[in-house]
Amino acid sequence: MSARILDGKFYASKIKEETKAAIANLQHNYGVTPGLTVVIVGEDPASQIYVANKHKTGLEMGIGSEVIRLPEAVGKEELLAVIARLNQDVNVHGILVQLPLPQHIKQYETEIVNSIDPLKDVDGFHPVNAGKLAIGEEGLVPCTPNGCIRLLELADIPVEGKRAVVIGRSNIVGKPMFHLLLARHATVTVCHSRTQNLAEVTREADILVAAIGKPKFVTPEMVKPGAVILDVGINRVGERKIVGDVDFEAVQDVAGAITPVPGGVGVLTIAMLMHNTVRAAQLQQKKMIY
Ligand code: NDP
Repeated sequence: MSARILDGKFYASKIKEETKAAIANLQHNYGVTPGLTVVIVGEDPASQIYVANKHKTGLEMGIGSEVIRLPEAVGKEELLAVIARLNQDVNVHGILVQLPLPQHIKQYETEIVNSIDPLKDVDGFHPVNAGKLAIGEEGLVPCTPNGCIRLLELADIPVEGKRAVVIGRSNIVGKPMFHLLLARHATVTVCHSRTQNLAEVTREADILVAAIGKPKFVTPEMVKPGAVILDVGINRVGERKIVGDVDFEAVQDVAGAITPVPGGVGVLTIAMLMHNTVRAAQLQQKKMIY
C-alpha cells in the first residue's frame, strides 16, 4: 500500500484563497486592510529567510506587510518600546517577533512575547491566547498546529472519535495540537522524551503528529497500518537537505496518508500566519463594535 500524499502547497493555496476573500470582506465592510509587522533582531540567516518569506507572502496577498529590522545589539527596553508603539498603532493588526532572539536578550523572550497585545499576537504564543485555546474560547491559535487541523479539514479526514497521538509537548506545537484535536473530539495522547514504550502508544494512533525535532525518528514499526501521519519536523541534514521527523520513504508504505517534508506542514504555517493576521483584524474590529 502506498499512502496518499498530503500536498502542503495545494492546501496552502486553498487557505490563501479563503484568506484573500476575508481580506476583501474587511476592506469592503470596514475599509480596513489587515497589517502585519514582523520584528527581527540581528542577522541569523535562517530567521532572515523565514522573515523574507512571511513578508513576500503578505505582500502577495494584499496584506499591509512591514518588517522592522533591529541591530543584534538592541537592548530589551528598546525592543519593548518598539512593541509598545506597534500595540498602539491602529494600522498594525498583527505583531510577530521572530524567534530565537540573540543570546544577550534570549532570557527575556517570554517577557517580550507577553508584551504583545493578545489581540495582535498572530503567533498565538501569548498566555491569554494559550489559555483561551485551553478553555475553548475564541482567540489566536499558533499557526503550525492550526495549519495541521485545517489540512485535516480540507483533506476530508475525520477527527471525531479517532485515536490521535502527538509526539512532542512544546508550547508552540505539541500542546496546542493536543487542545485542537481534543476540541474536535479525538481521544488524544501526548508523548514526550520520558514516555515509555513509545512505539506501543504510537501504534494505536489513527492520526499521528510528529513534532520532535529528530530526523526520521518515526519508523514503520511505530505506525498503525492506514494511519494519517502529520510530520511537523524540520531538520537540516548536511548542507542543503531538509528532512522531517518521520522516515517518509519507509512509512509511506504503511500509512494511509502522510505529509512530506519539505512541502507539507511547513508550507501551511505561513498561510496560517496570513489567516491569523486577518483573524486579528476581525477580532479588533469586533472589539470596536461591541
Ligand atoms: P521542541 O524541541 O520545543 O520540542 C520537542 C518535543 O519532542 C519535546 O516535547 C520533547 O520531549 C519531544 N521529544 C524529544 N525527543 C523525544 C523522544 N526521543 N521521544 C519522544 N519525544 C521526544 O520542538 P518544537 O515543538 O519547537 O518543534 C518540533 C519540530 O517541529 C522541530 O523539528 C521544529 O523545527 C519543527 N517546527 C516546524 C514548524 C513548521 O512550520 N513546520 C514550526 C515549529 C516547529 P520533552 O518535552 O520531554 O523534552
